[in-house]
Formats: sequence, C-alpha cells, structure tokens
Amino acid sequence: MLRLILLGPPGAGKGTQAARICQKYSIPHISTGDIFRKQIKEGTEFGKKAKEYMNRGELVPDDLVLEIAEARLTEEDCKHGFLLDGFPRTVNQAEQLDKFLNEKDLSIDKVLDIRVDKEELMTRLIGRRVCRNCGATYHVINMPSEKEGICDVCGGELYQRSDDTAATVENRIGVYNGLTVPLIEYYEKAGKVAHIDGSTGLDKVFGDIVIAIGDRE
Ligand code: AMP
Repeated sequence: MLRLILLGPPGAGKGTQAARICQKYSIPHISTGDIFRKQIKEGTEFGKKAKEYMNRGELVPDDLVLEIAEARLTEEDCKHGFLLDGFPRTVNQAEQLDKFLNEKDLSIDKVLDIRVDKEELMTRLIGRRVCRNCGATYHVINMPSEKEGICDVCGGELYQRSDDTAATVENRIGVYNGLTVPLIEYYEKAGKVAHIDGSTGLDKVFGDIVIAIGDRE
C-alpha cells in the first residue's frame, strides 16, 4: 500500500518519473492534467470549461478539479495505493484531499518534491514534444525522435502542447511558485516531504526517489 504525491514545477520531469514509479510499485498514475486533456479531446462539458484555463496557464477552479479527482480516486484500482501527479496543486485542494482520505481512514505516505531551476524548466518545456497517440515525450534538442515529428515508440504524430509556449510556460511557473509551493510547507508540517534534485538526470532522479520512498517490497 503506497499513496504518493509528486510535486514539482511544470517541466520538472514528473510525467517521466511517474511512469517509472508506477511500474516499480504497481500503483496507478493519476495525472489530473492527463484527465483534463482527455476530456478536452472528447469534447465534454468539463473539457470545454477546463480548456480556457489551461491554455492561459491558469489553474482550473478547485471545485471542478476536486470533483474529477475524487471520482478517479474512488475507482477500484486505487484501493491499493496511487501516485498523484499534478494534484493537489493548492492548499485548499490538499485540505480537501486529506478530508476525503481521512473519511476512509487513509492518508498520504510521502510527498516527493522535485526541484529544477527556472531557466532549465523554460528550455525543457518550450522544446518538449508529445506523441498524440501514446503520450511518449521527446525534446527537440535534448531527446529528439529519430524521424522529426514521428514517435519512435508507435509511429504517432508528435505535437507541442498548446500550453508549452513561452508565455504560457512563464505563467505556469509563476502559478506554481505562487499557489503550489505553499503546499510543500503544508506537507512538511506533517513530516511527509522528500526533496529531490530534478536536474541530475533521469536515472539519478529515479534512484533518489526510490531511496526517499524507502523499503516497500
Ligand atoms: P499538467 O499536465 O499537470 O501540467 O497540467 C496542465 C494544466 O491542467 C495546468 O496548467 C492546469 O491548468 C490544469 N490542471 C491540472 N491539474 C490541476 C489541478 N490539480 N488544479 C488546477 N488545475 C490543474
């Protein structure tokens, strides 16, 4: 049983690390951003509302986010733990999440706080490309696909997320510093935070995460 939260500014590598963590510990990866992008693609009412906020790099309002997140956490596969990626993002969301879990006699085990400086984040995000089909991520300079615009894994088309443009990225980092960084203090008071240097390379970051989680096997 392992309930984790992955914190870190946009571009810190949360998606990449989340996939590895979930594979190693056999827990579902719950990314509110992924859920929202799926809803946008499907053209749902929620997707239409969320899209406006997302394209501006702003947060989707808490009541909408909480409804979606709690519905997801109630699904069967979350019974034995989960990794939250991109949720909670405000102190209010964290308080509501704690309330939701407490009512079920559950709690968060560990909060992983991945840190990367702003200049590096800007470079990473603006060059990021994502496969429309399988979600694999690339970087135009640091990790290009073999054939430009085509996914190495599945042959799908690579695209730039509409919120990975310079102005939106700047805004998303500002929003993270203003609204999400206070969460670190919230969870520090509960003694749950492990700080991870996110600039050291994928394998080292993952190794540090595994050490922070501790012996769970
Ligand atoms: P992400 O994929 O985690 O970078 O999320 C992309 C965008 O979705 C964010 O910039 C927000 O607009 C929105 N979003 C995702 N998760 C949340 C959340 N927990 N609270 C508010 N907005 C969110």
